[in-house]
Amino acid sequence: MTHFATRDKDSPHDGEHVVVVGSGVAGLSAAVEAAEAGAEVLVLERGDAIGGASVMSAASTSMVGTPLQHAHGIDDDVELALADWIRMGGPTADVEWARRYLERSRADVYEWCADLGIKWMALSQPEGNSVPRVHTPSGFGRGIVDALAVRALGAPALDFRRDHAGNHDQPNQAEQKNRKP
Ligand SMILES: Cc1cc2nc3c(=O)[nH]c(=O)nc-3n(C[C@H](O)[C@H](O)[C@H](O)COP(=O)(O)OP(=O)(O)OC[C@H]3O[C@@H](n4cnc5c(N)ncnc54)[C@H](O)[C@@H]3O)c2cc1C
Repeated sequence: MTHFATRDKDSPHDGEHVVVVGSGVAGLSAAVEAAEAGAEVLVLERGDAIGGASVMSAASTSMVGTPLQHAHGIDDDVELALADWIRMGGPTADVEWARRYLERSRADVYEWCADLGIKWMALSQPEGNSVPRVHTPSGFGRGIVDALAVRALGAPALDFRRDHAGNHDQPNQAEQKNRKP
């Protein structure tokens, strides 16, 4: 389990102040990106540990034109995937968002995660997909959360605080330890 850690800062940071609510993959990703872009970031988490539902996830993710697909000789592209998704999603499919996601999936998900040290290890082809394009990473969601946590703790101005909704007076264990009697 990844617990909270509070780091002392040696010097003030001049960047923008960003507050991120929640420390699942979405929150951690936003926090790391903001901190590495120079912001001073505070992540508020109401749970006892970081990671939310993300730590339970298989993290299986549809992506197109990836190195893993190429290694398996799978010929896939945005138009093929989009046609599959529109067929599966029917009239409720958000075509503009689906296209944007598919166009960016390799760079923004596959390679971004690979840069964190995540290895995409398996491909599957759930019903409705013309080719195998659902990628599963080693370590699953827990592996991504842990990699993001390591990156977050290495960021120059990024801290975590437990924010117990409706009970802001309750410190977490890390804060209790740091309090003087
Ligand atoms: C068993 C399981 C398997 C799954 N498998 C897959 C899969 O294979 N592929 C896939 O794409 N998706 C999968 N999912 C879904 C996926 O896990 C979620 O879509 C994803 O983790 C959501 O990430 P998130 O960062 O938005 O939310 P979360 O990971 O849930 O993080 C939200 C965090 O915000 C905190 N929070 C909420 N409100 C507040 C507040 N007011 N103040 C402070 N903190 C707050 C929560 O405590 C939590 O830690 C699966 C989910 C489960 C449960």
